[in-house]
Amino acid sequence: MFASRKLILGSWVITSALEPPLQDHAVLVEDDRIKAIGPIPELEARHPDAARHDLRGCAIMPGFVDAHRHCYGVLAHGIPTEHAPRDFWAFLNEFWWGRIEDRLDHDMLRAAMALSCYDMIRSGITTFFDCLEAPNAIPDGLFVQAEVVKEWGLRAVLCFEATERVSTANGELGLQENVRFIQACQVAGGLVSGAMCHHTTFTCSDAFIRRAHELAKTHHALLHFHCAEGTYEPEQALRKWGKRTIEHYDDLGVLDETTLASQCVQLSPREVEIVGERGIRVVTMPLSNCEVGGGIAPVPEMRRAGATVGLGTDGYVANFFASLRGAFLIHKARLLDPAVMPAREVFHMATADGARAIGLEHLVGSLTVGKQADLIAVDLDLPTPITAHNLFDQLVLWRDQVDVHSVMVAGRWLKQDFVVHRADPEALIAKTREAARRLWGG
Ligand SMILES: [Zn+2]
Repeated sequence: MFASRKLILGSWVITSALEPPLQDHAVLVEDDRIKAIGPIPELEARHPDAARHDLRGCAIMPGFVDAHRHCYGVLAHGIPTEHAPRDFWAFLNEFWWGRIEDRLDHDMLRAAMALSCYDMIRSGITTFFDCLEAPNAIPDGLFVQAEVVKEWGLRAVLCFEATERVSTANGELGLQENVRFIQACQVAGGLVSGAMCHHTTFTCSDAFIRRAHELAKTHHALLHFHCAEGTYEPEQALRKWGKRTIEHYDDLGVLDETTLASQCVQLSPREVEIVGERGIRVVTMPLSNCEVGGGIAPVPEMRRAGATVGLGTDGYVANFFASLRGAFLIHKARLLDPAVMPAREVFHMATADGARAIGLEHLVGSLTVGKQADLIAVDLDLPTPITAHNLFDQLVLWRDQVDVHSVMVAGRWLKQDFVVHRADPEALIAKTREAARRLWGG
């Protein structure tokens, strides 16, 4: 069989935020992998047989990694609430669990995942990590979601957030959902994989958390959990154990290369040190932290301490460029320092560090020969000149999802000429509305 070759020409090629952008370069894609990167005339001369995709006027760059989301969350956008929740605990206990998560069924998950995939492709996200919290949608909630993701062609890590909140038996069912899903993905191969996941220290016992960690190790998967998203969890931990959340996890022996701790908003300086010393993976969601009144995560501090920090949307504001700008702006305001979190660093979190956070750094996160061909082209029709020096600022601050010209995952175009393939936006919205109506009214 002949290999399929595509030669993608760009005004700029960004291989990684750690390298200077390359002007008038091209990327050669063979089947699902990046085969070569070089100056346009050179690659054109060497590969006259390749299908030519002239995207000059665009920057070709690694696809974004949304390292934390809850795709079902789209069904809750705009849900009526009589009063804003008082705090993070009230948000979960009086609103999110009862009104949303406990009511989710498979049809709702399908509708939400389809709209989310469409939204992600529009935004230039090529890989995502999703955490399903729906105690009444197991068994098989993850498998239902995976079917939809495969139809859209995105790369994903999916997990179910096991919790003893409902019952011990439901917690065990959640762990088993993850084990079955991880194993099924390992056997099947492809773009979708699984992870182990438990909720928090306030909904899971120590024994349950240790078991989740063991299962993750046994099945060669990450252990994901939400960590100190607001003040509630560290306050509970201090009352119960006389130490803070990360300190408790450390004493349980579950902070290692397996660990992916999302949020990490309310951390003490000592916890930041532990996060760095253990080299755990972290994901930050600046916009949803604002939404729930959780605080501002010490992201620059964690990065300085040695943690890998990726960027996520939490399934809140779907446009990934909004999360980029949130990460860019919020730490400058908090630290009274315009020099922290430059655009280049935010871009790195949205690509390579996101990939590393979710354990896919060997496949994606940068445009590297031999890696998977997951890339996007962003239109550069900007009113001010573009230089190698300002390109990251131009992209992070002045571009948006409407400027995402093309999206490719594993060598396959999912969006071209600003249009998402196979998408029927009206039908997607109609199905989501129907699912949301059932969720809200049920
Ligand atoms: Zn979350």
